[in-house]
Amino acid sequence: MVASRSRLVVLGTGFGAFNFVKRVSDGYDVTVISPRNHFLFTPLLPSTTVGTIEFRSIIEPIRYARKEITFYHAEAIDVRTESNTISCVGIGTERGFEVPFDVLVIAVGAVSNSFGIPGVETHAYFLKELADARALRQRVIQCFELANLPSTTVERREQLLHFVVCGGGPTGVEFAAELNDFLLEDLKKSYAHLLPEARITLVEAASEILSTFDQKLRRYATTLFRRQRITVLTDSPVTRVEDGVLSLKDGSKLFFGLLLWSTGNGPTKLAQAVRLHKDERSRFVVDRFFRVQGQENIYAMGDCSVVEGAPLPATSQVAQQQGKYLARALNQRARSQPVEPFEYHHLGMLAYVGSNKALADLQNFKGRGLATWLFWRSAYLSRSVSIKNKVLVMFDWMKAKVFGRDISQF
Ligand SMILES: Cc1cc2nc3c(=O)[nH]c(=O)nc-3n(C[C@H](O)[C@H](O)[C@H](O)COP(=O)(O)OP(=O)(O)OC[C@H]3O[C@@H](n4cnc5c(N)ncnc54)[C@H](O)[C@@H]3O)c2cc1C
Repeated sequence: MVASRSRLVVLGTGFGAFNFVKRVSDGYDVTVISPRNHFLFTPLLPSTTVGTIEFRSIIEPIRYARKEITFYHAEAIDVRTESNTISCVGIGTERGFEVPFDVLVIAVGAVSNSFGIPGVETHAYFLKELADARALRQRVIQCFELANLPSTTVERREQLLHFVVCGGGPTGVEFAAELNDFLLEDLKKSYAHLLPEARITLVEAASEILSTFDQKLRRYATTLFRRQRITVLTDSPVTRVEDGVLSLKDGSKLFFGLLLWSTGNGPTKLAQAVRLHKDERSRFVVDRFFRVQGQENIYAMGDCSVVEGAPLPATSQVAQQQGKYLARALNQRARSQPVEPFEYHHLGMLAYVGSNKALADLQNFKGRGLATWLFWRSAYLSRSVSIKNKVLVMFDWMKAKVFGRDISQF
């Protein structure tokens, strides 16, 4: 008689889950559950908001990750440890169903955190998914079209052409940089009369932007932004957002046509709902083998987890390394081989800062400028997950260079 395979259920299709699913052995019967049926290469997501790269060039269907896979396009809403089942609701339906597991891997990532500031959820845009990038791209062009109408007043035009980014981390900085490129390289040709009025403001609550980068690189980015049309407001916590108006702690107000909110991570609905051991930020507390504290068969990794006593940054390289490690560890466990605890290898940080310039904060090298931008491009090209993605991204870069980015709104 053939022994039945362990039922391994994975929640999520992001960096952690994708790398795990690709490598875990055929000794497991793998089921993946996620509201997103594809992997998304987030480091290039800011480039899709203005059309430097097209949306479908940075995604890969999860069903391509391994030959035998059961995938449910659904959201997990609870984990029942007493019965070892997951409660799910399918996407596009309200009907729920239960999925049993022997081993569970939770890799559900995080959501954008509005920190409870009134009005953010209603009036700001976020940047986590492709749908967010598409909405941003549409809104930027819509702001220009509205500003161009003869019926638009001068005050309203000023407001529409003011693009505000809250959060001076890599995502906020990269969006501001991409938007500035879009204004100067493409929108300038079609809306030359409006361009002098277009402004970008980057608002940061702390005293500097890109706080995780080396100090010289931070200063370089700030100086570069200020030399362009990007105003950097530091020490400026936001207290309230209303329709087209943002209030700062010092009492001043910014009138905007578009507000991107990118100030950090918060827990997903699932992480909030599940009764497993969590820290004060609702991240699952795991040991160095990624077992959730107090559980033998439930693992968590990536942005939704925190390793007890050794917290790691919420980045793709952490989630990716954790996914690879956990697949290897479970394969070893299945063969009754010894398993070593996880060790993180920091590869450094990269950020695009606009005008064909980037920052690289690596272990033995701090780079900036044009050569670093070429390195940034080649690094992300080589990290794209399939040959198809690499070819499409390269083609998009060439297309944007030769023909410019598309400015149609539909
Ligand atoms: C715009 C942007 C740019 C970034 N750039 C960089 C960068 O340059 N370098 C870097 O290192 N990091 C970058 N990051 C951070 C990086 O994307 C994350 O740290 C990484 O994706 C975390 O991986 P993860 O597997 O934990 O979660 P994710 O990759 O976020 O995946 C989470 C998955 O869980 C799914 N999910 C959510 N809720 C449920 C549920 N209830 N049930 C089932 N599935 C669920 C989601 O649909 C998704 O598939 C960036 C992030 C963003 C948003």
